[in-house]
Formats: sequence, structure tokens, C-alpha cells
Amino acid sequence: MPSSVANESQFKRFQSNPSRVSCPSRSPSDSPDSPSAHTPNCDAVEEALAELQLQSQDLRSKELLPNGNGLVSGKGRRSGWHVKSSKLALNTHNRIRNIVEALKIKPNPEKPMIPLSIGDPTTFGNLKAADETMKAVLHSLECGKFNGYAHTQGHEAARQAVAKYSAHQRPDGEIQSDEVVLCSGCSSALEYCILALADRGQNVLIPRPGFCLYHTLAEGLDIEVRYYDLLPDQQWRADLVQLESLIDENTAALLINNPSNPCGSVFDEKHLRQLIAICERHYLPIIADEIYEHFVFPGSKHLAVSSLTTEVPVLSCGGLTKRFLVPGWRMGWIIIHDRKQRLGEAVRGLKNMCGRILGSNTIIQGALPEILTKTPQSYFDGVIDVLHSNASLAYKMLKQVQGLNPVMPNGAMYMMIGVSIERFPEFKDDTHFVQELVNEQSVFCLPGSCFEYPGYVRIVLTVPGLMIEEACARMAEFCERHYKKDSRDIIEDGLLDENLGF
Ligand SMILES: *Cc1c(COP(=O)(O)O)cnc(C)c1O
Repeated sequence: MPSSVANESQFKRFQSNPSRVSCPSRSPSDSPDSPSAHTPNCDAVEEALAELQLQSQDLRSKELLPNGNGLVSGKGRRSGWHVKSSKLALNTHNRIRNIVEALKIKPNPEKPMIPLSIGDPTTFGNLKAADETMKAVLHSLECGKFNGYAHTQGHEAARQAVAKYSAHQRPDGEIQSDEVVLCSGCSSALEYCILALADRGQNVLIPRPGFCLYHTLAEGLDIEVRYYDLLPDQQWRADLVQLESLIDENTAALLINNPSNPCGSVFDEKHLRQLIAICERHYLPIIADEIYEHFVFPGSKHLAVSSLTTEVPVLSCGGLTKRFLVPGWRMGWIIIHDRKQRLGEAVRGLKNMCGRILGSNTIIQGALPEILTKTPQSYFDGVIDVLHSNASLAYKMLKQVQGLNPVMPNGAMYMMIGVSIERFPEFKDDTHFVQELVNEQSVFCLPGSCFEYPGYVRIVLTVPGLMIEEACARMAEFCERHYKKDSRDIIEDGLLDENLGF
């Protein structure tokens, strides 16, 4: 506890010695037996409150404020309830929810449901937080020191722990604790970054396919999102020419998500350098959603984009959510990489954002130093093993299915599967395909439309191995049943038959 704060007994002594306090005279309406009249507790807050109360009584007597029944009389005043939603609230949409809720889903009662749609890796019970991770929270709780507010950016010790844990993001120098901002999950980290850099009418470049939260965060505030394309036949690298063509004087940031949700792709060093070069040419800061950093399969390497540049400022967003398998704990962070002070007042703006909700969960902050140092590498390796083996199995099985075109991921927890929808004439689009797949086979994937990428579906790789095997077998059965060769194939087959007939 800071030494400048009086302890309890000092405070009691202070209370019993009223003469030491000069107290402005109270208004006559203060009843003599109200506690404030006895206690010379003249702190400004109480005064202000009392004053407000008086003013509002005054206003109410003149019918300037709503009275008990909420109706107000008087000129130019409301005559009834007219509560409206703010524009921001009305313009905030969760695309996944909207699309999924519009599906007409009746799973086949004869087949147990396999939801390959759920992004929460803890759902199936096969992936659990490490004991070390959970014990750290117990210790944080038991010590009783973390029940109060922290600094809005987070407790110093917690920020130091994140700075150390993230040192690889800046191999040529140390990350300072004041360059770390703790947030309520990675989502809030992303929100702070977008809001700190972009104003209404400006635009942010985001990936397509991409995580729909970026759109959700920006649209309500009239910040335009411009989609740059990721190319499935180039391991989901960005279309650099198209990306660069989107940039104008109102572009506030380039957002990259690496490794990617929904693609499971991992950018190599060369590609990251190409992206950095574009940002350098256009003086564009990067917001890096690196929540899946370290989530890469054997043979791939994750590089933090900030580790490759000192020129371009990078706000790297991360957190405990995915790697430590604790999405409900809501602990994320921003690391400010601004080696040449190019973000200017935006850094102050970013820190101001923390004042909006007065900081993140302090019990988890208290546990962070232990979580980040004690969770063993073998635990992380075990999780990667599960994801990688599920990815390999699903890829192998679905690759053989006519009409499907899985793209093997190199990291994260997802796989995108192309659906040649023209080969399934019964289905209008990816959403319809997904709906009928649930209704026939009780396998639920997310349509690519949820990620601005129709023609694909996304599956999660966090389910138990047997479940993914069963799900892929059912998808194969579904596709076999509905796959139609295109008309040319059919005509050719027909001609062949005729030829044979001769
Ligand atoms: C899950 C996820 C997040 C959100 O993480 P929270 O810490 O739960 O807020 C952010 N970005 C991507 C790409 C994700 O998949």
C-alpha cells in the first residue's frame, strides 16, 4: 500500500479531532441529526453530492426534471417515454451471430451433434488450462492483495511480466512496462488500438477472410473497413498489389492477424517484410492481432511483425485467451512498439482509452507473473500436438472428398475448406450448404460468409480426435450424396456411353 495513504488508526484519530478541519457552513436544510452534521467529514465529494441533491430538489419543485411518474410538464419538454438507442449501439453487429441465427437448423436426431463451429477451445473438455496456470490464480486470490483497482494500464508487476514474456517481439531492446497496456481480453486490446488510431470517416485495412470482430468494432463508430484479400492458393498471403491500392490519406492503420483466424495460416519472414515495406512507403502504423503467436505447427515459425522493423510502429495485441486456454478470464494486452516515437500523441490516446473501464481484472493481473513463467513448455507442446494431428487428419480425409478443397493450416486452431458450390446445385451458397449439413449429418461448420469469404466453410481443430474423424466421415457422406458432376462431364459420359453402344 502506498505510504501516502493514512492507515485505519491514523484515520480514526483524524475523525475524533474535528477542530482540525475547517468546515464550510452547511445549508440550513441539513437536519441536525444527519450524519454529515455530526461528522466533520467535509470532503469535497460529500459536499458536492449534498449540493446536487439540493439543486435537484429545487429543480423538481419547478418541474424542470422528471417527477415520479417520469412525465414532465412544461414547454419544449418530453410528454412521454422516448428512449432511443444510440447509433453506435444500433450499428454494432456480430456477423457470426447474425448469420448463424438466420439458419434454419434442425440437427438429425439420430446423430449426435458435432459443433465444429465453436471457437471456444474449452468447450469439449479435451483441452484444459494447465494446473500451473490455475494455481497461479488461486495464489493471487488467496494473498488478498488483488481485490482493489489497479493502475488503469495494469499493475506494474503484471506489465513487467508481460514485457518479459514478449521480449522476442523486440530482439534488439527491452520492452518497458509502460509500453504494456493490460486489457479485458484481446478484443478490448483491438478496440483500444482501432479507436486510438482512427476517427469517424477514416479507414482501417483488414484481412478477408478475417475475424469478424474487426468489422464489429469499427462499423458502429463509422470507421470504414477496407478488405485486403488473402489468397488461398498462396497459403493465404495477402494480395499486396490490391492491399496497397486501398490505401489513401484517410487510412489510419493496417491490421494483420498472424497466425490467422479463420485461415490457420502463418506469414513467413519474407511476406512480413513485404507488408512492412508497404507501411513504410505510406507511413502507416500496424495493428498486429497476434493472439495466436506461438500457436504454430512443427515446420512453421511465428515471427512477430514488430521483431522485423524499427521504422514502422506496431501495436501488438495478445493475451492469455488462446494459448493458455482461458477465454473466460478476459486477459489481453497491447504492446506498444514505437521505437522512433512515430505514434506521437496516439500513445497518450491509447493510454487514455484505459480510463474508460478502469482497467482489467486484477485477480488475473495478480496471477500473470506466475502464469507467464510457470506454465511449462510441455503443456503448450501438448496442445499444439492435438491441433496439428487434428489438422492433418481432417486435411487427409477431406482432401479426398469431391467438391471440397481443404487448405492445410500451419497454425492457430482452424481450417478453411473450399466448397465448389456449383457442384452442389441443391444449395444456393455456403450458408445453405452449412445448414443442410447440420440437418442431415449434425455437423456444424461456420460458413465462410461469417468471415466475408463465401464459398468456404471453417472448422475448428480443438475437438477430440475421434470427433473430428467422425465429423469428416459425415461430411464426406453428405458431399457424396449431393455432389453433381457438371453438365459437361455428364454429356461427355453420355457420349462415351453412346460410343460404347456402337
Ligand atoms: C479469439 C480471438 C480474439 C479475442 O480474444 P479475447 O481475448 O477472447 O478477447 C481476437 N482475435 C482473434 C483472431 C481471435 O481468434
